[in-house]
Amino acid sequence: MKQSKTIALVAHDNRKADMVEWVEWNWEKLLKHKLVCTGTTGKLVAEALIKMQGDDFTGKLSLTRLKSGPLGGDQQLGAKIAEGDIDMLIFFWDPMQAQPHDVDVKALLRIASLYNIPTATNRSTADFMISSPLLEQEYHQKVKDYSGYINRGIDL
Ligand code: PGA
Repeated sequence: MKQSKTIALVAHDNRKADMVEWVEWNWEKLLKHKLVCTGTTGKLVAEALIKMQGDDFTGKLSLTRLKSGPLGGDQQLGAKIAEGDIDMLIFFWDPMQAQPHDVDVKALLRIASLYNIPTATNRSTADFMISSPLLEQEYHQKVKDYSGYINRGIDL
């Protein structure tokens, strides 16, 4: 991954206030990178960043909003990770409430592990990640070779 990263931000409803607060704390660092968010998280994050920067900043913000999580946003994000288009995932999921799209949440976390992208599922980890010197450096994450799991002796 390059010096400038593409950072995905996702928060479940009970964690959105945490996400907005975290973005407000870290806006200077975040604005050096591209942001990709699920729908509602993206709306709130964009509003928070524009509030910090002023209205004339609107056109300069690099933030892509996907569909809302329950409507497929998590799956869109998972596909982007598989394509190599996401460098880091900050995902404040709700450990106290089942979601209608629980299977998508699990799939997103699985694919983030599979492709070995740095993933924060709580604020402390997000703080450590945003403070890491690696954030501003090139980094080559090692992706395990899973071909042995897939071929199982069958010629595809
Ligand atoms: P949202 O989706 O940002 O559209 O609320 C997040 C999620 O539930 O995964």
